[in-house]
Amino acid sequence: MKDYPRIVVAPPGPRAQAEVARHDRYASTSYPKEYPLVVARASGAMVEDVDGNRFLDFMAGIAVAATGHAHPRVVAAIQEQAARFLHICGSDFYYDGFSSLCQRLAALAPGPGPKRVFLTNSGTEAVEGAIKLVRNSTRRPGLIAFTGAFHGRTYGAMSLTASRARQREGMGPFLPEVYHVPYPDPHGCEACGRGPDCERHGVAPIEDLFARRLAPRDAAGIFVEPIQGEGGYVVPPEGFLRRLRALCDAHGILLVVDEVQSGMGRTGRMFACETEGIEADVLLVAKGLGSGLPIGAIVAREAVMKWEPGAHGSTFGGNPVCCAAALATLDLVEGGLLANAAAMGERLRAGLRALAARHPVIRDVRGRGLMVGLELASPEAVHAAEWGAFRRGLLVLGAGPRTLRLAPPLVVDAEDVDAALRLLDETLAAPA
Ligand code: PLP
Repeated sequence: MKDYPRIVVAPPGPRAQAEVARHDRYASTSYPKEYPLVVARASGAMVEDVDGNRFLDFMAGIAVAATGHAHPRVVAAIQEQAARFLHICGSDFYYDGFSSLCQRLAALAPGPGPKRVFLTNSGTEAVEGAIKLVRNSTRRPGLIAFTGAFHGRTYGAMSLTASRARQREGMGPFLPEVYHVPYPDPHGCEACGRGPDCERHGVAPIEDLFARRLAPRDAAGIFVEPIQGEGGYVVPPEGFLRRLRALCDAHGILLVVDEVQSGMGRTGRMFACETEGIEADVLLVAKGLGSGLPIGAIVAREAVMKWEPGAHGSTFGGNPVCCAAALATLDLVEGGLLANAAAMGERLRAGLRALAARHPVIRDVRGRGLMVGLELASPEAVHAAEWGAFRRGLLVLGAGPRTLRLAPPLVVDAEDVDAALRLLDETLAAPA
């Protein structure tokens, strides 16, 4: 029997309320904030708040705590590196952890061709760097992205993002030469009515774009999430990535696969795009890579990452402590967490399908591994479920217009999954 979830005072308790008030007095008003969770400590899949409540974490700090909170091997790697040196600037000088992480990621990226790696501090910086890279490499301006996509908050990444108007409101003008096309509906395309197995499904809108608005010879890159994250955990139909790959090959366009949320073992494979057997020209990772420390990466085919010295750099990107955390994370993900994510994901989805039979508010259960979306009837139902789960000791988050996302640390076991299902069952029966 585990010592969590355990609610000892209805959250937010008095200490949590005081912290929320202090934060709200001084912090930027832009932070969206989901619910008043105020963390004191966390371990594995357990998060304890300042009032002594223990929560079962099924959001992992937005799909970041891949190895669980404060995994002892990650913490030891961080401490060991911190005691040696904290910083020297990997853009200008050399150290073992930087080279090791580049070498490791280059070997892990799917596809036979040799790769090179640029290390960043975040997902949005990986996207930002990839925009520069594809333009620099092709000497073309056009960027193609999908409706519903989330690629980050800096200007280039925000220009590709089309997930919520609120994120762009009052921020324009955006980067020029960005074209958005619909992300394929897994059930088929309304326009042609031929279903998801149509050989043009998902790429027909891009072909149309090429015919009417953007000559393919002006397109530098197509940016795609292999499973849309913030857009609502949308799984595209089988074959979509292969069709995109073929389209890119036909026109000399670079395929940029944004695995910031879906990568690092979350789907039960190291990278979600592996299911389609494609090789990305540019693969982006962040979030889970450092188990909570800020690090991301642009992994590109060697023929693509050939920009001149000085073309791109970063003071902190690939910081030695973050590299140590990332190397320890990779050891753990490869050393068993991938298989666990696949098995626990199966268990979770089977349990959710059983819940769907009892709760008509559930409209769809989808996902791969531990990247699971539960589509509910309305945005209000998602909001009520988030709060209801929080009050019962379960941390979940919404995604997209009406999806509850379940993205626990990859260390969850059967007892955790069953506890989450029980709490969701209770929550959906009486959300308040
Ligand atoms: N790309 C994807 C697919 C994401 O889900 C996110 C964040 O949610 C980002 C990029 C941006 O990452 P960050 O918040 O680290 O800048």
